[in-house]
Amino acid sequence: MKQVAGYVTRKSMLYVTGVEYGNYTMNHVQGCAHGCLYPCYAFMMKKRFGQVSSYEEWLKPYLVSNTLELLDSEIPRLKDKIESVHLCFTTDPFMYEYDEIAEMSIAAIRKLNSAGIKCTVLTKGVLPNSLAALSPENEYGITLVSLDEGFRKEIEPFSAPYGERIDALRSLHALGCRTWVSVEPYPTPNIIQQDLGKILEAVKFTGRIIFGRTNYSKRVSSYVGHKKFYADAAREVINFCNERGITYHIKKGTAK
Ligand code: SF4
Repeated sequence: MKQVAGYVTRKSMLYVTGVEYGNYTMNHVQGCAHGCLYPCYAFMMKKRFGQVSSYEEWLKPYLVSNTLELLDSEIPRLKDKIESVHLCFTTDPFMYEYDEIAEMSIAAIRKLNSAGIKCTVLTKGVLPNSLAALSPENEYGITLVSLDEGFRKEIEPFSAPYGERIDALRSLHALGCRTWVSVEPYPTPNIIQQDLGKILEAVKFTGRIIFGRTNYSKRVSSYVGHKKFYADAAREVINFCNERGITYHIKKGTAK
């Protein structure tokens, strides 16, 4: 088990978001030890606005110690406006081997659920089975852009091994939870040659698959034919899902 680097306090916790996972989000950790190098949009933004000075600093997670107190004060005021809360956009709620972060995430989800608010969760860590005891409306997801452990170590260096992620998601699925998989940001063949079909096959038990291209990467935009590659890949995802009754969503800008 790893220890967080320290604690910070914040003035607010629940934020409106314009993206598709939920109309509100919460980010109860500052920084992210997974250190993804796609690049990570959250890190880019925090660095641009001077909230983080370096990659090394970004890797040190600081837990927001007043998370639950903030939720207690914000939920009564916002609950009529909230459709669902997504954990998280600028960090990872089940950061690999950080039990204290996972415990805070579970406590936050429990609090939101008890106010009748559904949560969606996305991680590159390991989802615990204890989530199955929370609201059946919740949706638990993992990111999976490859099955190649060498590539994971290169691009998501401190995240959970792919096999552990998939096993944990399968376990929650078997316990009756709603599960989903985010195949995003998917790499182009000049980054890694791989079979998308095998990745989809590894998570065919899930209820929903989201597919999206890699953005903000010169390696991707310089790959001749990347638009056609993503259009073909999106078609493969759609066909795979249609054949198995899996719901899908192709992220905006991935394919026309
Ligand atoms: S898990 Fe998400 S927030 Fe954390 S470094 Fe990777 S992309 Fe960024």
